[in-house]
Amino acid sequence: MEIMVGKTAGFCYGVKNAVDNATKELESNEKVCCLGEIVHNSKVVKELEDNGMIFIKDLSENTDKCKTIIRAHGVPKAIYEEAKEKGIELVDLTCPKVLKIHKIVSEYADKDYFIFLVGNKVHPETLGTASFCGVNSHTIEQEEDIDDAVKNLISSGKKNLLVVVQTTFSMEKFDKYIENIKSKIDDTINLEVINTICNATRIRQEETAEMSKLVDYMIIIGGKNSSNTKKLYEISYENCSKVICIEDKSEIDLSELNGVDKVGIMAGASTPQKSVDEVVELLKNT
Ligand code: SF4
Repeated sequence: MEIMVGKTAGFCYGVKNAVDNATKELESNEKVCCLGEIVHNSKVVKELEDNGMIFIKDLSENTDKCKTIIRAHGVPKAIYEEAKEKGIELVDLTCPKVLKIHKIVSEYADKDYFIFLVGNKVHPETLGTASFCGVNSHTIEQEEDIDDAVKNLISSGKKNLLVVVQTTFSMEKFDKYIENIKSKIDDTINLEVINTICNATRIRQEETAEMSKLVDYMIIIGGKNSSNTKKLYEISYENCSKVICIEDKSEIDLSELNGVDKVGIMAGASTPQKSVDEVVELLKNT
């Protein structure tokens, strides 16, 4: 059985930066909190927890006012204000690419633009970015949301519209949404589109699409809550009849691989290299 492993599988720059720096903070501080899961991967979270990291859902849980890590996805503006008020020192490990989107939307909101933010409505990154967009904004997750977004734009009376997108959103869907938005607004609206999908995401999605066309069985490794992992699964499913999404090698049913000639392995941005290596080893020994 031939095994293909994606060149782009595993930690992206932002996740690596967050995990490495969180580990350093643990080495030099007695107590460190992290607001939310540092990445959407239970193995990574457990390893940090075993080394003393305290994961909290809310700053109010940080009664000792210990140093608190902001993960790569970023947080809503209000968290920075709350931390300041409570005297909690933040270690901001928000990915620079996400911080750049916060800066863009803040600047455009100040220039009186209405903002459409395309992304998963409950994803922490989208919630964070939405808070920097201000009141004149609308989050679009499904194509059906575009009608309401356009209605809000028109009732706001704004003549300038900016569209940005969650860093891990599907390129294909985003292009489709833009065409749909263009068809629903007239020439009186000045439209500016900034494609803020992360390059690492785009390249990984492209590689996944190519690989899934070449293999008979595709294994996607990533956290159950990981939005970018879910997208890799969807992309693979379009090209390959058998695709599984796992967090750990123990979830692979080896009997399904009987008669399979080529297996492709891809991993989401929050998947450690160790998880990829374990799957490769398991398949090699099958
Ligand atoms: S996917 Fe891109 S934007 Fe998101 S954390 Fe990784 S490098 Fe940053």
